[in-house]
Amino acid sequence: MSAEPTAGRATVFALGRQALEAHCRDLGASPRWAGVLRRRLLAGEPPALPARLAAGLRERVAFSSLGVLAREPTADGAEKLLLRLVDGETIEAVRLPGTRHASACLSTQVGCAMACRFCASGLAGLRRNLAAGELLDQVALLNGSGLGEVGASRVRRLVLMGSGEPTQNLGAIAEALGVLAEEGGIGPRHVILSTVGPPSAIARLQALGLKLTLALSFHALERELRGALVPTQAHVEPLQLLEAADAYAAANGRPYQLEVVLLGGLNDGVEQARALGAALRGRRVHVSLIAWNEVPGQPFRRPEPERAEAYLASLRAAGCSAALRRTVGGDRHAACGQLRGARGLPTGPTAPHDLAP
Ligand code: SF4
Repeated sequence: MSAEPTAGRATVFALGRQALEAHCRDLGASPRWAGVLRRRLLAGEPPALPARLAAGLRERVAFSSLGVLAREPTADGAEKLLLRLVDGETIEAVRLPGTRHASACLSTQVGCAMACRFCASGLAGLRRNLAAGELLDQVALLNGSGLGEVGASRVRRLVLMGSGEPTQNLGAIAEALGVLAEEGGIGPRHVILSTVGPPSAIARLQALGLKLTLALSFHALERELRGALVPTQAHVEPLQLLEAADAYAAANGRPYQLEVVLLGGLNDGVEQARALGAALRGRRVHVSLIAWNEVPGQPFRRPEPERAEAYLASLRAAGCSAALRRTVGGDRHAACGQLRGARGLPTGPTAPHDLAP
């Protein structure tokens, strides 16, 4: 496990391309090496700079803002990284395998203010937003973590579903996506942003015109139940959220996703599925069902498989496009709603490698 201390130096992606070009010139090298370095870092590849330039740059610039405290491979081929930020905070990011390309699940904030009752990431509240450079460094590390493995594939898809409510950090996300489209080979069409709302947050995202796919973290059509599960959104009428997502999908030219975390005995009933199916009729939406992943200490239970299947069948019978998402990474708490940054764990070389809370 490695951790590259920045030792007070600016990092490559915090610095920006022009400043990096100026450093290259200053060191007697062509400024084009700045672009080479940035692309190679995003691809998770060794920098491969001329030796003198590499040595000179390393004295001035850190190549990553993130230290890897622990790598947690899961039985299903995912890998969760516990990462230390320069201010000592910790986040997690997950590499998810795919048949042709890998996906990267990024955190967008340290902690989260939304306090969804079923989610580990919001347990300790919001600590701070992540900077664009910290988002890009997550991509670089997740890409690099697959290098050298048999059958490893490049990260070509991003899901902004780690810790944090992405619509509270849209400036940094827009900046990072601009860099990834230009230098990282990942266009906004291959990015999914998950939000719990409110409708005004979806409108702000739409106004940015980023063209990424929206995933609405929905969970319940009943206002009272949704408010109990996502207390910071208790004032929001779920149907208004759907309308905001409809408007986003119309502007974006592609359907949105509706995420429903199924909690045993709470929101996994067939009647609830029928009501949701009726509400979604005529909307451009795909429903993604996620059987809740156990988080120790939380008062929920995973739905029985037959109830989850019956819920799915009811939605489909109502004419909805829907699927029960395969849980990846659940054996190491790397799945949706289980990232928590492992705050409080000791940092440095003695950090424990078992992140299970
Ligand atoms: S589910 Fe998402 S929005 Fe809700 S607390 Fe977790 S990270 Fe935050």
